[in-house]
Amino acid sequence: MEVDYYEILEISRDASSSEIKKAYRKLALKYHPDRNQGDKEAEEKFKLVNEAYQVLSDSSKREIYDRYGKAGLEGGGFSRGGGMDMDDLSAIFESVFGSGFGSFNSRGRREYDKYPLDIEVEVTLGFYEAIFGTQKDITYRYKTRCKACGGTGERDGKVRKCSNCGGQGEVYYRQGFMTFAQTCETCGGSGTEVQNPCSECDGDGYIEVTETTTVEIPAGIDYGNRLRVSGKGNIAKNGRRGDLYILVMVEDDEHFVRDGDNIYIEVPIFFTQAVLGGEVTIPTLRGEKSITIPSGVRDKQQFVLRGEGVENVHNGRKGDMIAQVKIIYPKKLTSEQREMLEKLNDSFGYESKPHHSKFEGVIDKVKKWFKG
Ligand SMILES: [Zn+2]
Ligand SMILES: [Zn+2]
Repeated sequence: MEVDYYEILEISRDASSSEIKKAYRKLALKYHPDRNQGDKEAEEKFKLVNEAYQVLSDSSKREIYDRYGKAGLEGGGFSRGGGMDMDDLSAIFESVFGSGFGSFNSRGRREYDKYPLDIEVEVTLGFYEAIFGTQKDITYRYKTRCKACGGTGERDGKVRKCSNCGGQGEVYYRQGFMTFAQTCETCGGSGTEVQNPCSECDGDGYIEVTETTTVEIPAGIDYGNRLRVSGKGNIAKNGRRGDLYILVMVEDDEHFVRDGDNIYIEVPIFFTQAVLGGEVTIPTLRGEKSITIPSGVRDKQQFVLRGEGVENVHNGRKGDMIAQVKIIYPKKLTSEQREMLEKLNDSFGYESKPHHSKFEGVIDKVKKWFKG
């Protein structure tokens, strides 16, 4: 059974991207495995919600889904919910909620001091930049130890124990025979407390530095892909530097719609040409190509140009280009055109009011049923 993505997210078909995100947030939290331990139904729902969000939050996938349904999204590297593992799901989840949501962070991000070492920045590429690759200057901010206070955040550089927990990072309380530990609210578990904040870093112990680096963007990269630039992340107290992750966004194109390595294009065919057939020149990613339209072509009929799609970012194999016919009818007819069409119609020997003669028998039958 196919469940409609809009129904899954409980939104209308014209929902805006922020409405989609809002709906996803609500439902993903509701069905999150951490909140529904062992509940199979919730787990299925969680997967469906993620699958729906993955498609509807991506404007080109959404366009394909709206036009062609789920069938349009198969192939082209789109993974259905069934094929997604928890890592895929957690990547989607984290992209909306941020990392570190409870135990769901399966990657085990290492944290040093007050910030994680890895940084992520979003970079928007042009449609063709993503397909053919490019070089991008990326400006971002990384965190590093404040030299003025030695990373302590304290003006005199001396670390002071938290007054609330005495440096334990945890506070204990008793209930009956049991003792419970709770993260100290004052110091957030660090066990230290800043009394005279350093003026350079406002007591944070770190400062932010702006840096620009040139990144080689490989051909075939797609929306939602992540590129790792090693050694360009935040710097820990001990000098270790994390990585910079580039989350790729891709702009839409006016004519082409991309789904993974496949490219879709709509080919308008005037109704007379649809009847007559003939050669049509269409744009492809690498120049023009001509396709032969057979006489009597149907609306939405597809023509596949093998290997005219995007070169896969991993293996270099080229996807296909799918040209879909859209039959165009004239909006208005001049009296002269109308006359010509009527003449043409007559020349085929068709009745001018076909419904009457053709369905007469059927209409009589139906009438008899009602007479009983
Ligand atoms: Zn400082
Ligand atoms: Zn404390």
